[in-house]
Amino acid sequence: MVGAGLSGAVIGRRLAEQGHKITVMDGRPHIGGNCHTERDTETGVLVHLYGPHIFHTDDEEVWAYVNRFATFRPYKNRVKTTTRGAVYSLPINLHTINQFFGQTLRPEEARRFIEAKADTTISDPQTFEEQALRFVGRDLYEAFFQGYTIKQWGCSPTELPASILKRLPVRFNYDDNYFFHRFQGMPEEGYTAMIARILDHPNITVHLEATVTRDRAAAFDHVFYSGPIDGWFDFRLGRLGYRTLDFERFSHKGDWQGCAVMNYGDVDVPWTRITEHKHFAPWESHDGSVLYREYSRACGPDDIPYYPIRQVAEKSLLAEYVALARAEENVTFTGRLGTYRYLDMDVTIREALDCAAAYLRAVGDGGAMPAFTVNPL
Ligand SMILES: Cc1cc2nc3c(=O)[nH]c(=O)nc-3n(C[C@H](O)[C@H](O)[C@H](O)COP(=O)(O)OP(=O)(O)OC[C@H]3O[C@@H](n4cnc5c(N)ncnc54)[C@H](O)[C@@H]3O)c2cc1C
Repeated sequence: MVGAGLSGAVIGRRLAEQGHKITVMDGRPHIGGNCHTERDTETGVLVHLYGPHIFHTDDEEVWAYVNRFATFRPYKNRVKTTTRGAVYSLPINLHTINQFFGQTLRPEEARRFIEAKADTTISDPQTFEEQALRFVGRDLYEAFFQGYTIKQWGCSPTELPASILKRLPVRFNYDDNYFFHRFQGMPEEGYTAMIARILDHPNITVHLEATVTRDRAAAFDHVFYSGPIDGWFDFRLGRLGYRTLDFERFSHKGDWQGCAVMNYGDVDVPWTRITEHKHFAPWESHDGSVLYREYSRACGPDDIPYYPIRQVAEKSLLAEYVALARAEENVTFTGRLGTYRYLDMDVTIREALDCAAAYLRAVGDGGAMPAFTVNPL
């Protein structure tokens, strides 16, 4: 397993339980990949080092799986945003609409109110901006989408495809739970403790600070690679575009912002959001507090890749790498980096379980294991 994140851990565990000897290698000094959590030495707060992670899923099997390895505490993601000198509730809901427009609308009134604001002259939205204007009109678009999107993606919403904003991003009730999924929660001791338990099996050996290259992999019967697909080929066709994040840590005595996530919608505030990590574990009690200011920018060669860009140029380069990958023998590309897709944790686990099942079937009937068990294109 190249990578000790969720992909490598879940596939490794399933195969180990079937008697396979698994070697897990990760270039980082810790397991957990981007879900890694650790205790802050100054405050004792459990910190999500690569950005906040909230578990949410409708997949009962995945929910049962994570509950096998961790005690989950109920947790609802409730996000606020500061824009134009005021604080609002997200996702845009009845409270946001009433506060923003100084109204006291009920659901049906609010629906008609927003419909009247929507730009109906746009019949076939092509860009993110057109889609947002078509759905919610200029006022809400400029306050809640425009600045944040420019900061997050480093380009104008007129350059992004409409598909990014698939559905009407507004709720006509007071539900401010960010996710719709049936199962939502946080592992009591953090994600790294959960992943450590997944990896804790007599058939699994973990090596940290062990970066794997294509040459080194030849020593193994089969490689499951959850690193960047272009990295496997030494970036020989060029680099796939990603956004990376910078986190500026600061600490505080007491409660700094009163919530876990505060977005910043104004384009002249350089950070996209501030996260206060003790609020991700409300069952714990800490006097001190640790916060991250989060900045988004283009990913350079030495940065950690976070969000795949997946626009037209990247997709055509991806297609070339996928063709190279399909010509490899005994390597399966998995996870968010191996398939160059944004994947939530539950989807990562679902795909990892399916990938392990495909391998066990291939071993069982003597068939070949494919380079991908999902289509990355
Ligand atoms: C900012 C942010 C917030 C997120 N928030 C949420 C959330 O709230 N809820 C949710 O469900 N999901 C969230 N996610 C998604 C979540 O992080 C992913 O689903 C998950 O990390 C995918 O696991 P993975 O194992 O595929 O990849 P990773 O976690 O990236 O693990 C890959 C591992 O491979 C290692 N590696 C790479 N190349 C090599 C190499 N050549 N040799 C050795 N090791 C190598 C890396 O060091 C890394 O540890 C978020 C993602 C981001 C970026």
